[in-house]
Amino acid sequence: MARVGGVELKKFSSFKIGGPADNFFIAKNAEEIIEGLKESRRMLFPLKKTVFVLGGGTNILWGDRGFKGLVLKPEIKTLEIIDGNKIKAGAGVNVSELLSFAAENDLSGLEWSGGLPGTVGGAVFGNAGAFGGEIKDCLKEVISLDLKTYGIIRRAAPECEFSYRNSIFRKNRGEEIILEAVFNLSPGERSEISDAAMRNMRYREERQPLEHPNIGSIFKNVPAETLAPGVIERYGLNIKTDPFPVIPTARLISETGLRGLSFGGAMISPKHPNFIVNVLDASSSDVVNLIEVVKREVHGKFGVRLEEEILNLSRF
Ligand SMILES: Cc1cc2nc3c(=O)[nH]c(=O)nc-3n(C[C@H](O)[C@H](O)[C@H](O)COP(=O)(O)OP(=O)(O)OC[C@H]3O[C@@H](n4cnc5c(N)ncnc54)[C@H](O)[C@@H]3O)c2cc1C
Repeated sequence: MARVGGVELKKFSSFKIGGPADNFFIAKNAEEIIEGLKESRRMLFPLKKTVFVLGGGTNILWGDRGFKGLVLKPEIKTLEIIDGNKIKAGAGVNVSELLSFAAENDLSGLEWSGGLPGTVGGAVFGNAGAFGGEIKDCLKEVISLDLKTYGIIRRAAPECEFSYRNSIFRKNRGEEIILEAVFNLSPGERSEISDAAMRNMRYREERQPLEHPNIGSIFKNVPAETLAPGVIERYGLNIKTDPFPVIPTARLISETGLRGLSFGGAMISPKHPNFIVNVLDASSSDVVNLIEVVKREVHGKFGVRLEEEILNLSRF
């Protein structure tokens, strides 16, 4: 465990945007997290600084001025099989590593996550989902650390209050660190698991602008029931079930004609307009400007207030 100041957060972001963190440390296990927090609290808390838990940095918009506080990256990389069909994974394991480990052990249930970037901790925090699946579907238990008391909390999946891109961990952000998660999987055929995961990865490669730095979909999809009567028919919008009836936000943005709009070094992806891509050393304010334009135009045309899916720390 090493605590350092001035670490450039852009190095820890798939967007390649973000200024320095006042303090930054990487911990390999719960003991190192507690030790690091105790030391940091002695130094930082008199100044009322904040703790931010970082996973793979694939869903965060950092500010250009960085983060005035402590960024803690729990790199807990443990992976083990329990009772034949369960996997216990550390929060710092990449979801892609978890999926490969499941396939190697003939365990099915995570194929929907093929190509999903980020860590187990980040996926549990945001109940990540794709292709009709969500992390909550195969989760048995989550083990976390209470940041105030340093006590260990064990929650069965139903106690994690999962909903669309949400969980108790997101609702209580800053209060707990996810340490490990236990997944309940079913026996499967290795080649079928790998093929299904590969199909999802290829789908992403074809439709998502993976050639440029990005943080995935900027906005949540829009629940179909929130659109005014007649709007769906007037624009010929398709309803998708993911995991409940939604209108893909990419389609709404596309209808506003904003594909390809750029501000500074950031651009609304022409390939997938719910993605903003960093094409030329973008600043976080370039991205924020585009976010505001999209919100305004989509509201003006469809009467819908878009909700951000990303964690926007640009004004921190
Ligand atoms: C190309 C691309 C495609 C994507 N596609 C999808 C998709 O299909 N579906 C989807 O849901 N998301 C998608 N995303 C967004 C992102 O990959 C997911 O949200 C992912 O689960 C974030 O994980 P992370 O480890 O990168 O978390 P980070 O971005 O590092 O953090 C996200 C949040 O999780 C919290 N967090 C992380 N680890 C912990 C921990 N151990 N304890 C407590 N809190 C923690 C952080 O504090 C932060 O608030 C995509 C992103 C990209 C770049």
